[in-house]
Amino acid sequence: MQVQTVHDILEHILKPLSNAQCQQEYEMVCADGNVRLCFPKLFCWLANHMENTTLHGIASNCCLACITPTEKLGEHVETGYPIRRHADYRAANMESNMSSLNVHGVKNIRNAL
Ligand SMILES: [Zn+2]
Repeated sequence: MQVQTVHDILEHILKPLSNAQCQQEYEMVCADGNVRLCFPKLFCWLANHMENTTLHGIASNCCLACITPTEKLGEHVETGYPIRRHADYRAANMESNMSSLNVHGVKNIRNAL
């Protein structure tokens, strides 16, 4: 499945969590039949590396956290590499700046998250 298709589906599934009513309170019927006042939130998402690269829109041969060069993955570096700056990727995505995105293995998709 194409990465953009995954994000289109995620956007459709998660969209109700972003509406104004969900940001406050939501009455839901509980398994015991009682109505509970709930505040639905997406708290965490367990995923392996391949699923994470799809969710983050990053090439599978890249680190999700930092900009380690692909050929250096798995090697110990005392100083480490700079962490990824997602705000920069968002700006490059908005400008369709493909060279800036490609340099860090970031796919030019409309990310649902
Ligand atoms: Zn890393």
